[in-house]
Amino acid sequence: MKQSKLLLQTYREPPRDADVVSQQLMMRGGMIQKVAAGIYDYLPLSLRSIRKFEQIVREELERDGCQELLMPTVQPSELWQESGRWQFYGRELLRFKDRKGADFCLGPTHEEVVTDIVRKIVKSYKQLPINVFQIQTKFRDEIRPRFGLMRGREFIMKDGYSFHVDDADADREYWRMFEAYKRIFRRVGVKFRPVEADSGAIGGSFTHEFHVLAGSGEDAILSCSACEYTSNAEKTEAPGRPYPYASEHVGDLKPAHFHTPGIVQMEEQAKAFKDEEHDGLPLDHASKFYLYRATQGEKTWDFGVVLRSDHEPNTVKAKNLVGANSIELVPIEEAERLAGTKSGFIGPIGLDVPMYADRSLEGAFNLTCGANRDGYHHFGFKPDRDLAHFQGFHDLRMANPGDACTRCGKGTYEAFRGIEVGQVFKLGTKYSESMRCVFLDEAGAERPMVMGCYGIGVTRTIAAVIEQNFDADGIIWPWPVAPYHVHLVSLDASKPEIAEVANRLEAQLEAAGFDVLHDDRDGLSPGVKFKDADLLGMPVRVVVGAKGLKDGIVELRNRRSKEVLKLNPDAVVAAVLAVRTENLEPRT
Ligand code: ATP
Ligand code: MG
Repeated sequence: MKQSKLLLQTYREPPRDADVVSQQLMMRGGMIQKVAAGIYDYLPLSLRSIRKFEQIVREELERDGCQELLMPTVQPSELWQESGRWQFYGRELLRFKDRKGADFCLGPTHEEVVTDIVRKIVKSYKQLPINVFQIQTKFRDEIRPRFGLMRGREFIMKDGYSFHVDDADADREYWRMFEAYKRIFRRVGVKFRPVEADSGAIGGSFTHEFHVLAGSGEDAILSCSACEYTSNAEKTEAPGRPYPYASEHVGDLKPAHFHTPGIVQMEEQAKAFKDEEHDGLPLDHASKFYLYRATQGEKTWDFGVVLRSDHEPNTVKAKNLVGANSIELVPIEEAERLAGTKSGFIGPIGLDVPMYADRSLEGAFNLTCGANRDGYHHFGFKPDRDLAHFQGFHDLRMANPGDACTRCGKGTYEAFRGIEVGQVFKLGTKYSESMRCVFLDEAGAERPMVMGCYGIGVTRTIAAVIEQNFDADGIIWPWPVAPYHVHLVSLDASKPEIAEVANRLEAQLEAAGFDVLHDDRDGLSPGVKFKDADLLGMPVRVVVGAKGLKDGIVELRNRRSKEVLKLNPDAVVAAVLAVRTENLEPRT
């Protein structure tokens, strides 16, 4: 491809609203353009990367017998009403009416449509299992579209769905897709981790996310230093970490209210405790308390969570524990009214709601907490003894780096940041039951199919690749998804002797199977051309210039290692092959 003909404009500066590296570099490199918030054009260079990644996805899924189909983006409300999601999906679902007034939506995902397809075709156990996928544009009206292709409103996803006669077969397929995903991301050439993720109130390890590791990742991941246990921090099991004071004799300390005017800071609570024998307590006597409001369908209710003062609450765990769709903090004015005191002095004792305590507090009996009286804290709090609606000790906190692994007990957690690029999910019979996607089993009995679903964010993966592979000068594409493998740069492109060598090299490289972008633009300084080449980030740059040619050489530069070789033009194909081999080594 001649760069002089390519629809491409590069920029020195990123646009002001580009706030992550992938977005900055893709916009500077003329790979994407913003059309509206969260909606982008994929220009020729980025589309080549996208297509290459899609090809990897197709090959690996087809190896496992998955069949490709294509479903519509526009979906009728009837299907969503059958599954119940028309009501519950929330505002990410963009709904609209056609000219006849019928309700439609733009598909954010395709469980309903695919279930409708399969229920019409599959009648017997003999036709199962089925695994289908598509690569298609999705629309989710995200509240805060941001980070370019990482969180768009319109984006490309590969979504796959499988249908089975029973749980065991769905599990088998789940692990097969899990392995296929590992092959896919290994082939892309990125560092990634499969991560145990939250599957809502069902619990168990019914879902894994695949994360590309990158400092800019939105998700916190904790991974055991000794075993395989790697999980999204919103779900990582936290070990109980009892206070050292749990064993202190209660007689040593007198339970009491104590006057703490103006003290609302957690750190100050324990210090303020004074009696005949004590002039303040160590910080870790302080407990903290959160009042949440849970929603499940039409139902809402309040509940409380008590934690060690130095632990952070995990709202995903709390939500799952109480069996809610969502939870949020009770608005402060309401909490103050309920507790009869100002925020800062609100505590769990005496409140008329179910109370849950984190398991690190099991056995603790000498905690401080708000006394539900202006200006006072309570000392000598023991959750299981003092709470009227006590619901037990549970894992309710965020695990921390350094916590002992709950799985093997040997290692400790280490923290990573990740970008969720894919997810495998065992759905069970949620959709097949509500939408009557049934089959006749061997005994002739009608049963709902057991389903799994498997997603990969195609455009997000391309952005994540960049988040992990860049330097101050620009993108460093891994070989398998680079728009072009070789950026052939002609200096003094108009000189016939340069053009001749460069065109010959272009043809040779292409004949050897490499994708070549030939910067044949005339009248630009070498500096400008090199800057563009670094920014666009193809794995190999080959420079043909008058100075080198005088000595019979061209210059080959490896974008990742920055290593430079001076070569006879005839040696270029072999040298590019060597860079390819080195580039394709797995990165862990
Ligand atoms: P997130 O938690 O990041 O909002 P999700 O868990 O809701 O994503 P899934 O329903 O699991 O997303 O969709 C499958 C894949 O599609 C995700 O793993 C992600 O890679 C991609 N994806 C989801 N939302 C977006 C988006 N707004 N922009 C780009 N890619 C997305
Ligand atoms: Mg997901």
